[in-house]
Amino acid sequence: MEPAENNHPEEQKTLPRVVILATGGTIAGAAESGTEAGYTSGKMGVDAMIDAVPGLTALADVRGEQVASVGSQDISFAIMIRLAGRINELFAAGEADGIVVTHGTDTMEETAHFLNLTVKSQKPAVMTGAMRPSTAISADGPLNLYNAVAVAADPKAEGRGVLVVMNDRIHGAHSLTKNNTTSVETFLSPVNGLIGTVIYGKTAYFRGPFRKHTHLSEFSVEGVSSLPRVDVIYACADMPADLVECSVARGARGIVIAGDGNGNMNAATIEAAAGMAAQGIVIVRSSRVPSGTVSRNIEVDDDRLGFIASDELNPAKARILLMLALLKKRSPAEIQALYYSY
Ligand code: ASP
Repeated sequence: MEPAENNHPEEQKTLPRVVILATGGTIAGAAESGTEAGYTSGKMGVDAMIDAVPGLTALADVRGEQVASVGSQDISFAIMIRLAGRINELFAAGEADGIVVTHGTDTMEETAHFLNLTVKSQKPAVMTGAMRPSTAISADGPLNLYNAVAVAADPKAEGRGVLVVMNDRIHGAHSLTKNNTTSVETFLSPVNGLIGTVIYGKTAYFRGPFRKHTHLSEFSVEGVSSLPRVDVIYACADMPADLVECSVARGARGIVIAGDGNGNMNAATIEAAAGMAAQGIVIVRSSRVPSGTVSRNIEVDDDRLGFIASDELNPAKARILLMLALLKKRSPAEIQALYYSY
């Protein structure tokens, strides 16, 4: 039977407008063959990526912009600032109902957290990527992009901060972390859990993020072209304490220790870090352990040494928060309060 003709075009639903900002990554990667493990990230342009997803244009009125073409190991703060600026511009001008950012998975959590702190809108901003290049057998990118557009087009996604859609899951930017080097089920939200799921475009939400984000964030990158240097130092048994001094000598204004356990480090590093804290360098204790929180004054006397505990943020995200925090003069107590709010 032929489909009935619509005699009332004015009754046709207008589709939500979704802009896809592409930055490269494996989702745009290409290999020599469908089973080749080696590939190059960021080979495919945004329009080809859109064309490769059947049904996308039925979900939303979609158009793409190429912001960068890199593997996310090469994402810079300059690109993050450009992305935040473009998202803010598109939403402020009323040119998009939702935005999708395609991005490599390696540093997805960092860009997601950065945007979660600097995008000034309640409208859905959703990131997605892929673990398999576009040329692979069973590439995961097309369905991830389809689901990301479905979430970006969904009014129920509003007010939940920057979301990351991968492998049918909807993660909050605050919580997600990459957990496996090769599996398509790589992202987990180990501390706070999932925001929801999206199955072939059908969304379900369990909760919103608990922490402050986007329109409620006090951070802005308007007029900002670079950020203060903050280094991450990975703690391990018998680590050399002079790494702390090296970082500061190279210009770091803050250091995040990816500590062992509950943000621990050996006594020599504590002493070196305390010396730096006394000189006004911000020392944040986070953890190299993939899940759990870092609390104040457990085995390390933060009150006496002048350290900050990262609470729920892993080292990479704790670094982003500190870089943004250091754009303004703040006391250690004020910086600690930020880690409890964001
Ligand atoms: N190295 C790639 C990237 O982050 C990995 C990926 O996208 O899955 O761009």
